[in-house]
Amino acid sequence: MGFPGGGAGGLGIGAIVVILIISWVTGINPAILMGGAEQMTRGGGSQREEQADPQTQTRRKTAPTDDSGRFASKILGNTEDVWSQILPNQTGKQYTPTTMVLYTGGTRSGCGSAQAAMGPFYCPLDKKVYLDTGFFKEMEQKFGVKGDFAYAYVIAHEVGHHVQDVLGILGKVQARQQQASSKRDANALSVRIELMADCLAGVWAKNSNDKYNSLEQGDIDEAMNAASAIGDDKLQKQSQGYAVPDSFTHGSSEQRQRWFMNGYKSGQTKSCDTFRTANN
Ligand SMILES: [Zn+2]
Repeated sequence: MGFPGGGAGGLGIGAIVVILIISWVTGINPAILMGGAEQMTRGGGSQREEQADPQTQTRRKTAPTDDSGRFASKILGNTEDVWSQILPNQTGKQYTPTTMVLYTGGTRSGCGSAQAAMGPFYCPLDKKVYLDTGFFKEMEQKFGVKGDFAYAYVIAHEVGHHVQDVLGILGKVQARQQQASSKRDANALSVRIELMADCLAGVWAKNSNDKYNSLEQGDIDEAMNAASAIGDDKLQKQSQGYAVPDSFTHGSSEQRQRWFMNGYKSGQTKSCDTFRTANN
């Protein structure tokens, strides 16, 4: 994958906050170490809040220099460029970029404490995407998911939730979930929201490629492989030996692949209306 940006004069780098806390060394609650670490930077800035030396407890702020941080920042910047252009064109709504918080171990989010085990998530209360830096390695080790575009898909999916938020869809569905009469109904709403985020990731991929010719051979296969690996049926079979569709919150491998491709083929947000059909 050849995403532009990253160098001086390149495209915008996504606003990113990197938080590295070695709390397992110091034994201090990450929430305390964090202090007021979560600040966002704009316009090409990146920020790292690092607890590098548990002895002296020094903190320093630099741009993310590790590969995963640079990569995430680049993808985030690309999603900003693409969504800022296509969202107004396709929906009449202005896009306001999200911020990504990269962390190690645990951190605090507007939606409560974030733990690495949770995987990446979007918090609508502070409008930020949270990503544990070890997640990509875990994806590779646990699920055999490899390739830069697999990771780009994961980031684009989370940004997809932010797009849903900007469009006012996320809030409406969350209200409906709270009124749902059963866990099963709430789960079904969650699946529709998640598949829509997959579809929006596909819309981004298509428009990014149209604009920057950024996709390389095999990139879409990498995304498809990732979408399959993190399907609820596959994950459940892996952990408990069988799948319980009523408990799905993200959709099956087949659904996740299919909705990503819907978005990718059309490049249109309107093709992502997962609530329109009775079945997904
Ligand atoms: Zn999601």
